[in-house]
Amino acid sequence: MTRLVVATRNPGKVREIHEMLAALGGYEVVGLADLGIPESPDEDAVEAFDTFEENALAKARYFAAKTGALALADDSGICVDALGGAPGVRSRRFAAPDEARGERQDDANNRHLLELLADVPDEARTARYVCAAALAWPGGREAVRTGTCEGVVLRAPRGTGGFGYDPLFHLPEEGGTFGELSAERKNEVSHRGRAIRAVIELLAGG
Ligand code: IMP
Repeated sequence: MTRLVVATRNPGKVREIHEMLAALGGYEVVGLADLGIPESPDEDAVEAFDTFEENALAKARYFAAKTGALALADDSGICVDALGGAPGVRSRRFAAPDEARGERQDDANNRHLLELLADVPDEARTARYVCAAALAWPGGREAVRTGTCEGVVLRAPRGTGGFGYDPLFHLPEEGGTFGELSAERKNEVSHRGRAIRAVIELLAGG
């Protein structure tokens, strides 16, 4: 068995990636918490690039070096056309939470996005989720695959599933937001699902 470390701290992503890797034979899939690797400020500094691919590769490389194992990392975000592709690689901390109200980061991001798009008409609210999934082997081999998923940003949240921007991200072909779709369906059509399946194909191919 080859050990595969899923190098992400985001609980929403950990859940989705582990679900998708469940069927991958020949690998012992472990998380950072399983290995007792404490969170360090260096981790944020690693993903300072302007592309999803560079950030995912940098994270995978960092954790392969730290653990001595094959590492899988992803970098993802939402690119909104009316905002020139923002927030993109800066999606995680798009807005400052209102600490006096105990606002959560995801809620602050969604509030900020809605405010910025308040005057944008329905037909111009197109957006896509992008995910780059990278593998780094301890010996220095690397690979990266990217997946995208097209949708539109609603004017109010719908559904409680998923995480992050999901309740605002409507998929016209699915007739609902990622907050409304099942976890299984999200994995089938999402940016992360596409990128992780491409990585799984690569691992399955040796
Ligand atoms: P990362 O951890 O630097 O890759 O940042 C990813 C951020 O993009 C998350 O914190 C969310 O704000 C957003 N994001 C990425 N993928 C998704 C998704 O599947 N659903 C909702 N938000 C997402």
